[in-house]
Amino acid sequence: MKFVYLFKEGNASMRNLLGGKGANLAEMTNLGLPIPQGFTVTTDACNDYYKNNKTLSDEVINQVFDALHNLEEIQGKKFGDNSDPLLVSVRSGAPASMPGMMDTILNLGLNDIAVEAFANKTNNPRFAYDSYRRFIQMYSDVVMEVPKSYFEKIIDEVKSIKGVKYDTELTVDDLKELVVRFKNIYKENMNGEEFPQNPNEQLMGAIKAVFRSWDNPRAIVYRRMNEIPSSLGTAVNVQAMVFGNMGNTSGTGVAFTRNPSNGEKGVFGEYLINAQGEDVVAGVRTPQPITKLKEDLPECYEEFVRLATLLENHYKDMQDMEFTIQEGKLYFLQTRNGKRTAPAAIKIACDLVDEGMITKEEALLRIDAKSLDQLLHPTFDKEALNEAKQIGKALPASPGAAAGYVVFNAERAKELGKGGKGDRVVLVRLETTPEDIEGMVASQGILTVRGGMTSHAAVVARGMGTCCVSGCGEIIIDEDKKEFTLGGITYHEGDYISLDGTTGTIYDGDVKTKDATLEGDFGRIMSWADEVRTLGVRANADNPRDTKKALELGAEGIGLCRTEHMFFDEDRIPKIREMILADTKEAREKALDELIPFQKSDFKAMFKVLKGLPLTVRYLDPPLHEFLPKTEDEMIKLANDMNVNLETLKNKCSELHEFNPMMGHRGCRLAITYPEIAVMQTKALIEAAIEIYKEDGVMVEPEIMIPLVGEVKELDFVKKIVVDTAEEIKKNEGVNIKYTIGTMIEIPRACVVADEIAKKAEFFSFGTNDLTQLTYGFSRDDASKFLNSYYDNNILESDPFARIDEVGVGSLVRMAVEKGKSVRPNIKLGICGEHGGDPTSVDFCHRAGLTYVSCSPYRIPIARLSAAQAAIKAKGNK
Ligand code: PEP
Ligand code: MG
Repeated sequence: MKFVYLFKEGNASMRNLLGGKGANLAEMTNLGLPIPQGFTVTTDACNDYYKNNKTLSDEVINQVFDALHNLEEIQGKKFGDNSDPLLVSVRSGAPASMPGMMDTILNLGLNDIAVEAFANKTNNPRFAYDSYRRFIQMYSDVVMEVPKSYFEKIIDEVKSIKGVKYDTELTVDDLKELVVRFKNIYKENMNGEEFPQNPNEQLMGAIKAVFRSWDNPRAIVYRRMNEIPSSLGTAVNVQAMVFGNMGNTSGTGVAFTRNPSNGEKGVFGEYLINAQGEDVVAGVRTPQPITKLKEDLPECYEEFVRLATLLENHYKDMQDMEFTIQEGKLYFLQTRNGKRTAPAAIKIACDLVDEGMITKEEALLRIDAKSLDQLLHPTFDKEALNEAKQIGKALPASPGAAAGYVVFNAERAKELGKGGKGDRVVLVRLETTPEDIEGMVASQGILTVRGGMTSHAAVVARGMGTCCVSGCGEIIIDEDKKEFTLGGITYHEGDYISLDGTTGTIYDGDVKTKDATLEGDFGRIMSWADEVRTLGVRANADNPRDTKKALELGAEGIGLCRTEHMFFDEDRIPKIREMILADTKEAREKALDELIPFQKSDFKAMFKVLKGLPLTVRYLDPPLHEFLPKTEDEMIKLANDMNVNLETLKNKCSELHEFNPMMGHRGCRLAITYPEIAVMQTKALIEAAIEIYKEDGVMVEPEIMIPLVGEVKELDFVKKIVVDTAEEIKKNEGVNIKYTIGTMIEIPRACVVADEIAKKAEFFSFGTNDLTQLTYGFSRDDASKFLNSYYDNNILESDPFARIDEVGVGSLVRMAVEKGKSVRPNIKLGICGEHGGDPTSVDFCHRAGLTYVSCSPYRIPIARLSAAQAAIKAKGNK
């Protein structure tokens, strides 16, 4: 097996094997660009290292030495030579770019003798000893894990003794002293072992350290955040050193071919004269804008611009390049497609199409669908954020930025926030309950102590496009006292905090936010996406406001209207409670009758916004306990309203207590025990449709969806109630409203018997929240408590509630699709779990042959673009 490739042996298509950096260095070598030569140890070698219990096999070692000898010949220098030693850098380079996540070692090959030779050869002893001390420091830190701070402390000590401020002011003798002291630190921390003088040993140590850094905590977190599989492994690039710190005709910098924050065309970047790469990053000296290079070294600048343009034309994308100038000679150290903000990504993609460089389809593939979030929500002002004090971090449940003062319950939020006094408030709760909905609407943001990404707060907040950070277990909250403590600070009502729902970060104080602006190019990208996608895109919405937003963002209808959300308003919840707590059918019907006008007017309002677009109405689904009163005050009020004794009411509530409410009395089971609920909902819906027809002349065709069906007879039972009720109303009113009846597929059994169910269901909608919960047996509300250990131990790579588990849950979906189609070939197939707005899951839905995805309004653009990307990729694979 070939584990090591010289740069001249590779090319850009070998990314998985050589890593992004290695593949691009090879490509640039082929293009004839000035590249310090070297070789790449492959990702296969990395996986081999882990397979062999973190050791390098002889095969890998031998191939490294062969490549090294080749490099020595190319460079005309020898590793460890006593007069003109070859020095190399050793850098990581994974297939997916992970900037700064893994380790780098520079100046490798120096030792006590080589440093002298290097000093003589370069005629610059200061430079030679500075390189050596940096190498000892990096090697100790990266390879041997001796903390950097030990070395920094000594540098500070020497500087203060010498009375100087900058490293650059240290003399040769100072640097020589540093070298001696650094080597001593190494020895002390390595049980008396000397700093390795053998360059071969140094090289092997460094390669192993880079492989090891693939599994360091920050790399693991980064991979998880960016959905990079840990099985990929990293490659290692060993490259001849060039030096940007050899005087005033040397320098180093980083530049882009277009501005990565706004996408504007033109070389953009920074550089430092007489410096090594790390100085730019470390911020010891302030870098100059790249245009300054035009004055300092005009020829280098021109050459740089020429080659940067060549690279952009070659890769047909914005490039992010690192370069070094050694004594007037320009070298490229790396190029890659540059990371960019969402606005920049949109502009660059459109510009590249206009410049004739790429097709519209290529443009669509260039944009990270998830990043479109950034375009739709308010963001923090960059400068304000730099000054802000972070007090905690939890789950980024719903994106956006929010700043406001703390309130502890929904009533206060309503009173003080949007729609009330108009202040900016942040609702802080142990967990949210359905009754908090109005308080949530009134708030800028929501922070909860408990709950995962599909908890009530998260789902509702995403639906509304309100920023939410959930599951912050570090908070110590006392809701009665109205205070909480986080990051050592105790907050009371009225104290300001700020939330970043995109990262899950919580800040102290009132951090300035700014509203998102949709650029014109955004619309162009969306219309291109609509041209190519075959999946429909609908929204999950249950009120006119969200429906309107969803349509603005391009939804083609509503795929899930959770009717229970219509009952959480203050004037409705008592009726639902009465219904639940009623002892007789009559009492239940009385309470339900009072709900009909509310429910009907809600449906009508949605029909009006939808103007004939489809509406899927899901019948009452949640465990009843979600509606029950929790506080003493609520109990007393309800007992009064119902005219019953408080104790009786309390007993009734505790009778309704369930050990496993999510697997309890919910979904279609509610309509089976209380058919009058389905009667009431059907009345409200069909009457609404008839009234809309009579008032507006619009004939709507509601889709009625029965939740949590696992056995076809359940569906049959509820369906009969719906049909009987609807037909009677139609007959009485003389209007022939058409409607369809389908089911959610969210119980594993439903997937297994989907052919039976399809005989009765006119459509399926996959409820992948419950389907994931029941397939894994993970509670959707509590799984976040243990999932971190799953990620840490490589048991799972991502949250199965956010990104569909294609192997398990996905197989069930495919089974249901196949079985459903076998009975009803044209069956409409949707998905309305949270996965409907996740790009990878949307891609799966396309491949699985679904008709549409449905997601929260603010994720509609993401779903549209993801659906387009899925269609383009599928075409490519054919
Ligand atoms: C689901 O289970 O995926 C679903 C959409 O329904 P809910 O989240 O309301 O249970
Ligand atoms: Mg469900």
